[in-house]
Amino acid sequence: MGGSCRRISQFVLKVHSRCDLSCDHCYIYQHADQTWRGRPARMPPATVRRAARRIAEHAREHGVPVVHVVLHGGEPLLLGAAGLREVLAELRTTITPWARLDLRLQTNGVLLDEELCRLFVEYDVRVGVSFDGDRAANDRHRVFAHGGSSHDQVRRALALLRRPQHRASYAGILCTVDVRNDPDRVYEALLAERPPRVDLLLPHATWDQPPLRPGPDPTPYARWLGRIHRRWVDDGRPVSIRMFEALRPGGGGTEAFGLAPADVLVIETDGAWEQVDSLKTAYHGAAGTGLDVFDHPVDEVVRHPGVAVRQDGVDGLCATCRACPVVDRCGGGLYAHRWRTGSGFDNPSVYCPDLLALIDAVDAYPPPTPPASGEWSATAPVDELLDDLATGHGSTSTLALLAATQLSITRALLAACRDRFGSTAAWDLLVHLDQAAPDAVQAVLAHPFVRPALVHRLDPAALPGLGAALDPLPALAVAAALRAGVPATVRVPLRAGAITVPTFGDLVLPGPGESAEVTVGPGGFRARVGSVERTVSLDPLAPPTTGWLPTRDVPVPGGRLLLEDGDPYRDCYGQPVERRLEAPAARALGRTLTDAWRVVQRDVPAHAAALDGGLRAVVPLAPDPARPLRSATARHAFGAVAVTPHPDPETMAVLLVHEWQHAKLGAVLDLYDLVEPGQGTRIRVPWRPDPRPPEGVLQGVYAHLAVTQVWRSRADTDAPDASAQAAHFRTWTRDGVEALLASRSLTAAGERFVGQLRHALEETRVGSG
Ligand code: SF4
Ligand code: SF4
Repeated sequence: MGGSCRRISQFVLKVHSRCDLSCDHCYIYQHADQTWRGRPARMPPATVRRAARRIAEHAREHGVPVVHVVLHGGEPLLLGAAGLREVLAELRTTITPWARLDLRLQTNGVLLDEELCRLFVEYDVRVGVSFDGDRAANDRHRVFAHGGSSHDQVRRALALLRRPQHRASYAGILCTVDVRNDPDRVYEALLAERPPRVDLLLPHATWDQPPLRPGPDPTPYARWLGRIHRRWVDDGRPVSIRMFEALRPGGGGTEAFGLAPADVLVIETDGAWEQVDSLKTAYHGAAGTGLDVFDHPVDEVVRHPGVAVRQDGVDGLCATCRACPVVDRCGGGLYAHRWRTGSGFDNPSVYCPDLLALIDAVDAYPPPTPPASGEWSATAPVDELLDDLATGHGSTSTLALLAATQLSITRALLAACRDRFGSTAAWDLLVHLDQAAPDAVQAVLAHPFVRPALVHRLDPAALPGLGAALDPLPALAVAAALRAGVPATVRVPLRAGAITVPTFGDLVLPGPGESAEVTVGPGGFRARVGSVERTVSLDPLAPPTTGWLPTRDVPVPGGRLLLEDGDPYRDCYGQPVERRLEAPAARALGRTLTDAWRVVQRDVPAHAAALDGGLRAVVPLAPDPARPLRSATARHAFGAVAVTPHPDPETMAVLLVHEWQHAKLGAVLDLYDLVEPGQGTRIRVPWRPDPRPPEGVLQGVYAHLAVTQVWRSRADTDAPDASAQAAHFRTWTRDGVEALLASRSLTAAGERFVGQLRHALEETRVGSG
């Protein structure tokens, strides 16, 4: 078979082929295919390495922008934290140079613990948990081999993932439907776990082994799912339910629906390339390709007839499906569900009557009219935090919550450093201080550049350009001890002949040496490298110490704002940052920032409150004559924005508001999937020449909405050009909002969020309000 080779962007890695549960609906152990019996229990490291290289090779050769790898089993957590760490490190190291890597893991949750959650936060792994609903529903199938319930263990796992410090790793719930369960109770049990997304799965069946249809109803699955769909719509679609989103007209499809080419390959524990797992329900060996990662690249697997036929869209379907009026949405259902001995996969889905009826139900309820502005504030809010931020600004309490979740991620990364590099004196000191003076530790950990330092320590490739990955814990411990007034001695690594004490300043120490011995005492500290010793007093009236460059802050209405031009981890914006400013330049920037903050208060008090709630530091960017007005945020540095030191407070106010929007939305995206992952959609927007990914458009829309709000307010005071500026940014925002909503690339939560942004934009019409 010839022809051009398709790109594959999703890979399922079977890292462990056994399971600690014994679910009777499991397609791996309970269905026709029994190939698991002949495979190694765990994927050996050499196979992981080989698989990672095959994926990287494919991404490089085909320019795949985002590679999705799902760790799967059996039960992947049986690999343990150490085994999973090896796998994750191998994947990140090998694939990241060639493509953005979206790591996911699908688990039954039984073994999930805090150490594993920290590992997943560290490696940015999103975890999906299999959970079938209320206790009766879950225990109908999801039991241990002795028949005991797994319900409590799975709920404990979900509670762990919901914790703020782990929430970024909570991908959602995968629930297999059983029509004997009560759909209302299942729906309520799923929502109670506050998942970012729910996947409802039809139980695996074929024409040879049809699904359970108790009673006379010919379409019990449509009735059962239709009931959940009504609840979901009535509740304002409070969570993303993939099946319902995929079945809408233009819904984009999933592996189970729609005509998109199959874009998934599976790698078994022995390195065999296989087709999607669900085929195992058809016949023994159905998913096999006879190819493996040792001898066969991805391109060769894609040419395998079984994979190729699933890339043919409507042409790969049976005659009945090809003639079906909803084929573009159903796509013949899941490939495996079409199997019948004799005709193979050349049949409609065994769920065909249910799928037709379900699509009817989705269309009929509610009538498929596009949402008008404001209609998204339905009875049950998706989440108060999201709804509040969709006003364009967000209250101080919402900002405090965002800051708290960011702090939790920093703490998880800190613990991940301990897990990776072992306990050190600095770690022990931090633990002690966290008990004795928690406010001091919290003030240090909330510094925006602590997270970049920890990320860089754990994965230097994630923040290239920061140089050698030094241990940041000793400097953090010194800063916390200084704040707590607790005497301590720690060895702090030197970077370019200096140490940085976060939030306090930098001390240049001449002479050779890799680290300084730092002793914290009353009101300051002493640092020694070889024969060089410096004593630093924190008393502002004390005589200056040679080489000590204290941080500077400026008064703003809500407190003090750090002017960060010393911390080496501020260099995380992908553009050159300014070196330490001379005193007059620092004073000038400080005055501009103070005045700009007052301008924000004057123009958009709600945005000033949002700045108060979280902006802690401003980083000066290096001047660039070609682009004199620049600003930036970094996803890992919540609480800071970077700006060119522009002298005009009115201009600076707009920069601050604009960038703070990016920072807030970045923190939101750490918690929620607002954009469907992995669709590869590109959207044209008026503010950029090149089509942008949905997440970039969302960022642009959120920032431009705030800028519109600033100019709208200025227009009320007849400020020159304000009405024209308001109209300009309003048009950009509106076009971006409409393009996003039309793109079908948003999750239900994302659609609701953007719908509410549209409503907020309506209120900025010049002449309104
Ligand atoms: S948890 Fe998953 S892999 Fe394990 S038995 Fe149940 S369905 Fe199968
Ligand atoms: S399975 Fe049934 S509903 Fe789906 S496309 Fe085929 S004929 Fe249509």
